[in-house]
Amino acid sequence: MSDQPFPALRVEDLHKSFGSQQVLKGISTEAHKSDVISIIGSSGSGKSTFLRCINFLETPDQGRIAVNGEEIALKAGRGGRLQPRSWRQVERLRTGLGMVFQSFNLWAHRTVLENVIEAPVHVLGISRREATEKAEALLHKVGLFEKRDVYPAFLSGGQQQRAAIARALCVDPDVMLFDEPTSALDPELVGEVLKVIRDLAEEGRTMLIVTHEMRFARDVSSRVLFLHQGRIEEEGPPEQIFGAPVSARCREFTGLSA
Ligand code: ADP
Ligand code: MG
Repeated sequence: MSDQPFPALRVEDLHKSFGSQQVLKGISTEAHKSDVISIIGSSGSGKSTFLRCINFLETPDQGRIAVNGEEIALKAGRGGRLQPRSWRQVERLRTGLGMVFQSFNLWAHRTVLENVIEAPVHVLGISRREATEKAEALLHKVGLFEKRDVYPAFLSGGQQQRAAIARALCVDPDVMLFDEPTSALDPELVGEVLKVIRDLAEEGRTMLIVTHEMRFARDVSSRVLFLHQGRIEEEGPPEQIFGAPVSARCREFTGLSA
């Protein structure tokens, strides 16, 4: 447990619909410093939408989100839909949230190093020299220092994803958000990416990880959320979720994919 008086991330009663489809039906959770929270559930259960709402890649219809104790201020916009009171606040708080996507999302026309220093230089206003120093240390850490001047197209999927993780880390986020970071990889490349995430867990990084890698989730998580049709159907320590889940749906899901 941390000695901070507030969680690194607090989400309260999050709702999100697309048209008439209710995708999130009231999700609440907290991540304290060094928590590793895995989010599991079948395809379409709302896992990605949940992560995307946290950093306002999607705007929730209802709910509250606070990063490091600072709540994102919302107002009713056109047609009564919620929107942030200030996108500047969202942008600032987003630097506290490092996001890693299934599909890497590196800039194709920039080298690995340029990808990693982009946000520190252009969003945080850190000098290029300082950002480069930090980026190189991070590239060392994810095993990509030698590839720093290479363009993404010349990297394997596993290398691209490790570069994307270094990029997300380079702004010193309080919370890392991973959306199925290994789902787009050939099976032989999954391990190298999971190892990087495992190392981050051991360092005490606060992370939310959407994953289908059940063994990994069981090993690294302090808590697991099982999402079903837009609700947290069950949550608990991995021993509970993978060993003795209360919910029949959760038992069926983990039983099928373990
Ligand atoms: P998961 O990540 O658990 O597979 P998603 O959050 O991606 O689930 O999607 C949940 C549901 O919301 C799905 O039915 C999906 O089609 C729908 N959905 C997600 N994003 C959008 C969008 N931008 N527009 C319309 N429907 C969406
Ligand atoms: Mg998804």
